[in-house]
Amino acid sequence: MTKGTPSMGKFHTPTHGRCRRCGRHSFNYRRDRCAHCGFGYTRTWRSYRWMKSIKERA
Ligand SMILES: [Zn+2]
Repeated sequence: MTKGTPSMGKFHTPTHGRCRRCGRHSFNYRRDRCAHCGFGYTRTWRSYRWMKSIKERA
C-alpha cells in the first residue's frame, strides 16, 4: 500500500464537485464549502489581496 499521488485512484467518492455559486469544480462535499468562492462558510465572495493584480490594489 502506497500513500501519495499513485494511490489517489482508489478514491471513488469525489472530494470536490460543482459549486452552486461560482460554478467551479471546487465545492468540497465532505466539508460543505467551496474552495474557490467560499460558499458554505462565508456569505461574501472569498477573496484575498494576493488574488488581485498589483494594479487593482492601487
Ligand atoms: Zn464556489
